Amino acid sequence: MKIQENVPISEITTMRIGGNARYLIDVFAKDEIIDAFKFIDENKLKFFFLGEGANSIGKDEGFSGVILRNRLQGVETLDEKERIIRGFGGEIWDNVVKFTTDLGWSGIEAMSAIPGTLGAAPVQNIGAYGQDISQVIVEVEAFDTKTREFVTIPKKKMEMGYRKTLFNFGEDAGRYFIISVTLKLKNGHLNPPFYTSLQRFVEEHEISDFSPANIREMVMKIRESKLPNPKTTASAGSFFKNIYLSNSEADEAEARGIQVFRSNGENTINTGWLIEQAGLKGKEFFGFRVSDKASLILINESARSFSDLLKAETEISRIVKEKFGFELEMEPVKIEA
Ligand SMILES: Cc1cc2nc3c(=O)[nH]c(=O)nc-3n(C[C@H](O)[C@H](O)[C@H](O)COP(=O)(O)OP(=O)(O)OC[C@H]3O[C@@H](n4cnc5c(N)ncnc54)[C@H](O)[C@@H]3O)c2cc1C
Repeated sequence: MKIQENVPISEITTMRIGGNARYLIDVFAKDEIIDAFKFIDENKLKFFFLGEGANSIGKDEGFSGVILRNRLQGVETLDEKERIIRGFGGEIWDNVVKFTTDLGWSGIEAMSAIPGTLGAAPVQNIGAYGQDISQVIVEVEAFDTKTREFVTIPKKKMEMGYRKTLFNFGEDAGRYFIISVTLKLKNGHLNPPFYTSLQRFVEEHEISDFSPANIREMVMKIRESKLPNPKTTASAGSFFKNIYLSNSEADEAEARGIQVFRSNGENTINTGWLIEQAGLKGKEFFGFRVSDKASLILINESARSFSDLLKAETEISRIVKEKFGFELEMEPVKIEA
């Protein structure tokens, strides 16, 4: 276990803003979680869990408690016949994807190159190009901060929806520190038609090999061409959530010329499309720029403060609301207790 004091949150999150964390504790083994909570209890501190900080945003006042960072790493096959793997929560998500595509297994290949850790992946039910982790997750092992015990949580208890789960919503949000995640993959491969941009890539390049490894290659190329690389460009990925509508709301939106995607009984508006239609693509707000390649992404070009981010969020939301009547909701999590 490694304890550091007064660590700038801007240096441990990809949006690169936020004041100091009073303490940053890295845990590298299961036993160390007990030691970390002994420290938290003895000093009566608040806590916040962190992986790579790709979906978490620091506030200007920082965080006066402990940021507990999962550094437990490794991924292994548990059952080759059933295609079950388990990885530790601090493992880099994309390493886990590569591990499965190297085995030729399908299930998470379209989620290649999503930044962050395996432990954070179930928290907001990460997804991309038609796949999300709820489709493959079996269970997680976690430290229950309420009972101070290690527990196993099966998928059925996770209440997974769009960016919403037991781990980030309701009274148990922030209760479980995820230690390891078990996934069950499939044989075979994805088949067309694919999610729009993947389908376009397949057609343009006349590709017929849809093996997990090849889907991974394609997704990585698509993402590289339009999404910021957290190593060089500050962002938290999609800054706003997509909008879910009831059938009558969807009918009404379509009558107003708004693009609604209807699939599996769900109606969604791509918020990036609304932002683009509002003329905000590529526009700058208080040091943040709406990406000119993916309008859902806010890039931090020169901003240093959370208050500037709030101003940018308020202004973009106001313009979209005025034009289309929809409230926007921020996707990344604020680092607070
Ligand atoms: C350029 C870019 C592109 C992105 N593209 C996508 C995308 O295509 N699809 C998508 O779904 N997301 C995307 N994201 C968002 C982000 O990659 C995911 O949310 C990812 O899961 C974050 O992982 P992390 O380890 O950085 O999480 P963090 O930001 O560190 O944490 C996120 C949340 O999980 C909690 N948490 C972290 N670790 C644990 C743990 N071990 N136990 C319990 N709770 C924990 C935190 O408290 C916080 O609430 C993108 C982000 C960026 C910057």
